Amino acid sequence: MTPPVLEVRNLSKRFPVPGGVLTAVNDVSFSLAAGETLGLVGESGSGKSTLGRCVLRLIAPSAGRVVFDGHDITDWSEARCRKLRAGMQMVFQDPWSALNPRMTARSLIEELLALHTPLSSAERRAEAERLGLRVRLPSAMLDRYPGELSGGQQQRVCIARAIATRPKLIVLDEPTSSLDLSVRAGILDLLAELKEETGAAMLFITHDLGTLRLMADRVMVMYLGRVVEEAPAAEIFDRPAHPYTQALMSAHL
Ligand code: ADP
Ligand code: MG
Repeated sequence: MTPPVLEVRNLSKRFPVPGGVLTAVNDVSFSLAAGETLGLVGESGSGKSTLGRCVLRLIAPSAGRVVFDGHDITDWSEARCRKLRAGMQMVFQDPWSALNPRMTARSLIEELLALHTPLSSAERRAEAERLGLRVRLPSAMLDRYPGELSGGQQQRVCIARAIATRPKLIVLDEPTSSLDLSVRAGILDLLAELKEETGAAMLFITHDLGTLRLMADRVMVMYLGRVVEEAPAAEIFDRPAHPYTQALMSAHL
C-alpha cells in the first residue's frame, strides 16, 4: 500500500488572545491518500483555515504532527519548508490578494515554473500556454494583468499556478466563496476535472457542504476546532450522523 500523501496526527493550534488562549484547532487527526479529495466543512470560525495553514506549514502547530510525503515537517524551518512548496500548493479564497498586480497572467504562471522546475525559458513559455488553455484562459488573456481579469479568471490563474509544479497536495481554502454564483460552477467543474487528471490529493475547505458534492471522496466536519464527523461523501450526504452535520445539511435543502 502506498503511504498517505498527508498524515495529520493529534494536531492542535492555540492562539494567545486577550484574557487567555483560544484553541482554534483541537486534536485533529486524518490522512489523505494520493488522488483523494477530502472536503473540510464547517461554519466560519470553526478552525478550517488554521488547520489548512498548519498542514502547509505556513504556521507552526502548537501540538501534534504533520507528515507530508513521508517527511515529518512539523518542526522544519521556514527555509526547509519552502523547498517542499513545489509539492504542496494552495488556492485561496481571494485570488486578487494572491496575485502580484504588476505581473501578467503569463508571467505569474512562468514564475512558478522558474522557481520549481528545470525548464528553459522557451519551455516555460510553452508550458504556461498549455496550462492557460487547461484552465480555459486563452493566449490573449494570458497577456493581461490581474486587474484586467474578472474574479473568476483571476482564480483560474491561481489554479494554473497551483497545478504548474505537479504538486502531490493542493489545499483549496474556499476557492469559490468570493466568486459570483454564475462563475462558481465553472470553477468547480474545472477543479473536479483536474482532480482526476493531476492525481493530486486535495484538501478542499469550504463552509458550504453543497460545494463538495461534485468534488469530495470523504468529508470531515469541523465544529469549534474539533472534527465532529468524518465519513465517505456519499454517507455524509445520505446519512449525516452528527446533529451539527444534520443542521449543516438542512441549511442547504
Ligand atoms: P475558519 O477558517 O473555519 O473560518 P479560522 O481557522 O480562520 O476558521 O479561525 C478559527 C478561530 O481561530 C477563530 O475563532 C479565529 O478568530 C481564530 N484565529 C485564527 N487566526 C488567529 C490568529 N492569528 N490569532 C488569534 N486568533 C486567531
Ligand atoms: Mg477560513
